[in-house]
Amino acid sequence: MKKAKDIITTTNLTRIVMALAILLSLIAIFLVITRHTPSQMRTQNTCSSVVVVASGDTLSELLLAQGLTHNDVNEISKVLKKDAGISGLRAERDKLEFVRNGDNSPVSKIVVVPSPWRQVELTCDDSGAWNCQTVDIERDTRAVWRSGEILDGDSFYLAGQRAGIPAGILIEVYDLLAFEMDFERDVRSGQKFWVLYEENFSDGKKIDNGNVLAVSFQALRGNVQMYRFKKSDGTTGYYDENGNGAIKSLKRTPINNAKITSNFSKKRKHPVLGFTRAHKGVDFRAPTGTPIPAAGAGRVIARSYNRGHGNFVKIRHNGSFETLYAHMSRFAKGVNVGTNVRQGQIIGYAGSTGYSTGPHLHYEIIKDGVHVNPMTVKLPAISNLSKEDKKKFIEYRKVLDDGIEKLKQHPSLYIQL
Ligand SMILES: [Zn+2]
Repeated sequence: MKKAKDIITTTNLTRIVMALAILLSLIAIFLVITRHTPSQMRTQNTCSSVVVVASGDTLSELLLAQGLTHNDVNEISKVLKKDAGISGLRAERDKLEFVRNGDNSPVSKIVVVPSPWRQVELTCDDSGAWNCQTVDIERDTRAVWRSGEILDGDSFYLAGQRAGIPAGILIEVYDLLAFEMDFERDVRSGQKFWVLYEENFSDGKKIDNGNVLAVSFQALRGNVQMYRFKKSDGTTGYYDENGNGAIKSLKRTPINNAKITSNFSKKRKHPVLGFTRAHKGVDFRAPTGTPIPAAGAGRVIARSYNRGHGNFVKIRHNGSFETLYAHMSRFAKGVNVGTNVRQGQIIGYAGSTGYSTGPHLHYEIIKDGVHVNPMTVKLPAISNLSKEDKKKFIEYRKVLDDGIEKLKQHPSLYIQL
């Protein structure tokens, strides 16, 4: 009996393996067919073939394979760069469509599809010159509302995922909220939050996510709420419910989601030196190699090594602020004394150089020459609203709030934008 059962299992296994082998070879054959004989489409006399750019493909190779001359290749590369800003192809993302007037005719039109929202059409005129035209695809944008709650032992990220908020949107929301709150100390179970963000559709099909339009979080120190708003000069930013700039010139936590292992204090026992002295910054746990972004825009005024800080970078920001990043394993390429950096630009990588017990980022904010607590210091906003814009913002916010109230009652609906 046992043997029979064994045989049955082996036979089944062989069958499964064979079926898988057949399936895999079918997939392989299919891939070969689609890769080498692109799909053909006919409309009246013209015929077209679509090629998805594969890894290692170059524009010139793909064009030459379609029978275009080296001259054509040069000219197409030139107009693509000049008129469409395309200088290279991205594997598995970009698509090329070649159109001919008949089976054996030369290519008369090439459509490059670099994004679901843009098509670049290249056409060859009678003189043999190539012209380039960009066509924007119409998108239907909807604002959707998702809400969640922090549970015991939860992180904001987990709670956000449970609420159905896409990862990319969550990262943006985290970045925004981190200007106003400290995810270490301000987050407790039972807190509620919501996000209003864009989803882009084309022909009724969801293609991607757009901007975060509004966000609200019941933080320990009060409700944090922000709205995206376009100023009359055309620039967009985030503002609190009263129209004050929500994006600050410096970030309290340069590395997202990093755990604080030591807080700012006037007195603490140093883990390496043993005696008591002030801790002039905040320590964030970060594995060696974690990229360290600049907390704000500014100019690098030190990129050096000393026994305490190890490899460190110091940045002077507009106004009276400076920031310092210590114990780096290495500096980012191109970051030197005198380099201007933007907020979020990687300046180095976490490590454990200098007086340090393990890989972490030691981060300091210095205001008017005095070390301040990065978690509590009042930081200036990057952009504020003019009197006129503020008035417009308050009106806009009221309309948006009304929409949000409706979505709270019917969370499966959306706002057509
Ligand atoms: Zn430290």
